[in-house]
Amino acid sequence: MHHVAVIMLKVLFLGTSGSMPTIARSLPSILIKRDGEAILLDCGEGTQRQMMRCRTGINISSIFISHWHADHFLGLPGLIHTMSFLNRSDKLTVYGPRWGGVANLFALVNPQFQVDFVEVSPGDVIDHPSFSIKVFGVNHGISACGYVFEEHERPGKFDREKAQELGLNPGPLYKTLQNGAPVRVGNRIVLPEHVIGPKRLGRKIVYAGDTRPTEDVVRAAENADLLIHEATLAGELKEYADNVGHSTASEAAQIARKARVVKLILTHISSRYANATPLLEEARLIFRKTSVAEDLLQVEVPYRD
Ligand SMILES: [Zn+2]
Ligand SMILES: [Zn+2]
Repeated sequence: MHHVAVIMLKVLFLGTSGSMPTIARSLPSILIKRDGEAILLDCGEGTQRQMMRCRTGINISSIFISHWHADHFLGLPGLIHTMSFLNRSDKLTVYGPRWGGVANLFALVNPQFQVDFVEVSPGDVIDHPSFSIKVFGVNHGISACGYVFEEHERPGKFDREKAQELGLNPGPLYKTLQNGAPVRVGNRIVLPEHVIGPKRLGRKIVYAGDTRPTEDVVRAAENADLLIHEATLAGELKEYADNVGHSTASEAAQIARKARVVKLILTHISSRYANATPLLEEARLIFRKTSVAEDLLQVEVPYRD
């Protein structure tokens, strides 16, 4: 079998509380780490100290804010100040839905490096060399979005047995085929598709931010390796959840089931739950592969094949 380099993809839950922090839970922030690159999803108050605890460093290329409720962005000024204090020279890009106050937020800190704010709307795609971030709309009462992190496709599997059958021996001809070009063996031409399977999907992580359950999240999360969904409240407070634009644990689980994701992690837990076990239990009745995030939880997202 052709050896494909394994690239570590990790999700670090820096803050897992909703609305206000508790002793055990800091405000929302999630770090995605992939092959030396790190991006931040939301940046609640206290995020930079949580990053220190996880020893992530602060060399982050971009930050994606789901919406401009204060529990999701108040960590930005402090983090940017520290970056500036440590003489950062690389540009930082902050993405988020429309908010008029962003410029003031940055001016307040007066960083000595470039900070760009890029306004996003549903359907936007931010492209990186090895992955993309897609923006989708959610239902939270104010302008709010979720983000789909998705790696680009990987090359298909190389069938060594088939290659041997066709008279190919390991060596430079393998490389040529992997690069998509045909090779000649004796008087026969071997095409890449003779020995290389179809391209394989990259890994997909979906962060829904704050939202009521909505079909938009189901569509965005379709077949994801990991769905990170808020579960602010337990099912018995469903009506209240509806009033305040949040989801219950069982509603989040229904979204995961509909989207046929591999794994669901609940976050944005209301400060009223010192123990989140009831949330976990109600969600697992609907979607078995559920867990509840805790601060500093690190999750690896493996390849499926
Ligand atoms: Zn929130
Ligand atoms: Zn909110």
